[in-house]
Order: sequence, then C-alpha cells, then structure tokens
Amino acid sequence: MRVLVTGGAGFIGSNLVRRLINHQHDVLNLDKLTYAGNLESLDDLAGHRNYHFSQCDITDLEAVKKVIGGFKPDWIMHLAAESHVDRSIEGPRVFLETNVIGTLNLLQASLAFWKSLSNDDRAKFRFLHVSTDEVYGSLGDEGYFTETTPYDPHSPYSASKASSDHLARAWYHTYGLPTMVTNCSNNYGPYQFPEKLIPLMILRALRGESLPVYGDGSNVRDWLYVEDHCDALAQAVEYGRPGETYNIGGNNEMKNIELVKQLCVILDELRPRKDGQSYANQISFVADRPGHDFRYAIDASKIRDELNWVPKQNAATGFRSTVTWYLNHSTWCDNILTGKYTLDRQGLAENSN
Ligand code: NAD
Repeated sequence: MRVLVTGGAGFIGSNLVRRLINHQHDVLNLDKLTYAGNLESLDDLAGHRNYHFSQCDITDLEAVKKVIGGFKPDWIMHLAAESHVDRSIEGPRVFLETNVIGTLNLLQASLAFWKSLSNDDRAKFRFLHVSTDEVYGSLGDEGYFTETTPYDPHSPYSASKASSDHLARAWYHTYGLPTMVTNCSNNYGPYQFPEKLIPLMILRALRGESLPVYGDGSNVRDWLYVEDHCDALAQAVEYGRPGETYNIGGNNEMKNIELVKQLCVILDELRPRKDGQSYANQISFVADRPGHDFRYAIDASKIRDELNWVPKQNAATGFRSTVTWYLNHSTWCDNILTGKYTLDRQGLAENSN
C-alpha cells in the first residue's frame, strides 16, 4: 500500500514508519519537524526506495493538499500532533492549531482527494486518526475506559485531541470519508523524546540528577510498548471497520512511583552507580501537575476480539529493553540535549497564550 504517515519523525511515527517499510509498504512521512520531530530516528531508512519524506506543516491546508495529491495514498495514518501535556498547560494555542486545525486540514484535503478516486480506489482508502485514552478523563481505583466511555478531557492537550477525534468521526458520518479512530494508553520504547516520563527518568538518573515524581507518585498509567501500538495501528488501518473506534492498551497498570523504582532497579543492574548506591536514592517528590488525572486504564477487548491484536511485550521485557536502548543510544540522546531542551520541569509557568 501507499501509506502517508503524518508525524513520522516523532516517537510513535518513526517506529510506525519502520514497521510499515519492513512490511513492504511505500511510505511518505509528512512532518513539520518541530522540537519533537527528529530525522535521526529514521537514519537507518535514509535512501530506502520505499521511504519518502516531505517537510510540511499540517496547519497549511494548501501544502497538505499538494502532498496528498502528489503521493496519492491508499491509507493516511495521522499521528502529527503536539503531544506533551505539560507543554499544553503553558502554551495551549499551538495545541489547538496543530491538533484541531491541522486535523481539519487533513480531513478536508483527504476528502477532496478521496472524491477524485475511482470507485475501487475509494473502497480501499482509509484515514486512521491516532489518539489517546486521555480524552476519556480520569478513573478512580476501579473500572476501564471502553469505546463508549463519554469524553471528559481535562488538559488542553486532551481537549484538543478530543476535538480532533470528533472531527474524524464527523467526516465519516457527514461525508462518508472512511475514517477510524484509535485511542491508546501511554507508550514507551525507543526514540521517545526525553520530556516524557520514562526517558526523562533514565537520562536524569544517568546524569546524577534528581528523579522528580509528581505529587505522591500514586497516579496510575497503563503502559504499552510502542511496537505493540504500531502493530495495533497496522491491524486497524488494514482490517478495521470505517466509522469505528478501537481502544488500545497494554493491560499493564502501574503507579508512577512503582514505575520509577522499577527503572532504578534495571539501571542499578545494567549501569551501576559508581558509589554503589541505588538510583532510587535520587527520587524526589515535587509539586503535582495541575489537573493531574488520577488513573487511566483501557479495556482493549474490542481490538483483541475483532482485529486479533494483543500486546507482545510485558512490563519486565519492555522496560528492560527500553532502558537498554537508551544506554546504547547516547549519541541520539546527546544530540537532543545539545538543543533548547534540558530535561527541566515544564508545565508550571504561566499560560503564555
Ligand atoms: P511526538 O511528539 O513524539 O511526535 C509528534 C510529531 O508530529 C513530531 O515529529 C512533530 O514534528 C510532528 N508535528 C507536530 N506538529 C506538526 C505540524 N503542525 N505539522 C506536521 N507535523 C507536526 O508524539 P508521539 O508521542 O509520537 O505521538 C504521536 C501521536 O500519537 C499523537 O497524535 C499523540 O496524540 C498520539 N498518542 C501518543 C501516545 C503516547 O504515549 N506518546 C499515546 C496515545 C496516543
């Protein structure tokens, strides 16, 4: 298939592009290359005959139309987004511009393109909108998010993703564009920008810095290895039913503090501190994130039953291989940290726009 992936230079996008190429698809990566976009994450694919790249901002409708019209995709997998909750607290505007208006532009450009296709090509075209479980809000100690859980987003990030999910569904119901939405739990694994919890903790630990845990560390997240997420996206775009939503989760719930302690144990074994102490001694509790959702947990039985998807990695194997990856890719990490981003706390400054 000819697959247009938006946000392919990001964390999940780069893993997805690699997976699609490995499965013989022809892939165009459309990415603006914001602070989170990094072509070094795709170094191994440079020059591959099935890999193409177009630097493009999805807030620019004409540019998006040009890329879609030129590439003529069978599938569009839309991942480009501003993705970090803490940044959305300080600067929400770009989240609305990229996640909402950008998605609108992609839907409009896709619709015009789809209408121009033959009946056969129209029938195989798919638009997969990749989203988060954060749109469902926060759970207490019990229960799981299902595809019918009412939306209740709490952060500017999740509100912008919720809005874009509704747009993707509306384009199916109103115009017939074959869209699908996936809502996934927290991902981890190779190539994740180190502002996110797991790489942040690994890199700060190795630098001898404190390991800041928000609040009392009791917030619960469900963790999914990124390659399992990419497998689920591939199943959804190929076999999913237009108009449907699929929840994706790892069945791997953990309190943040337990997760950080587990990372410390792995680091103690793989890269012991010179003073023989545990990395856990670097843990410090800091002011909570404003509006911090207590618990996310996913019921992924629909995608399991309909599309035959289950995650392959468990917490033990996934966390260990992720720590190993960061230990073995210090140049990738160092190149990010020579830029503006310095592993510092975000999300406490005044809302700037
Ligand atoms: P990321 O921040 O690592 O990557 C986002 C990519 O989008 C970057 O390459 C960036 O350059 C690109 N981008 C941003 N603004 C753009 C614009 N205006 N035009 C074109 N490209 C632009 O994000 P990620 O963690 O890989 O997440 C990818 C998608 O998956 C997002 O839509 C996110 O909401 C969703 N998601 C993420 C997670 C997670 O745990 N990371 C979980 C569920 C869903």
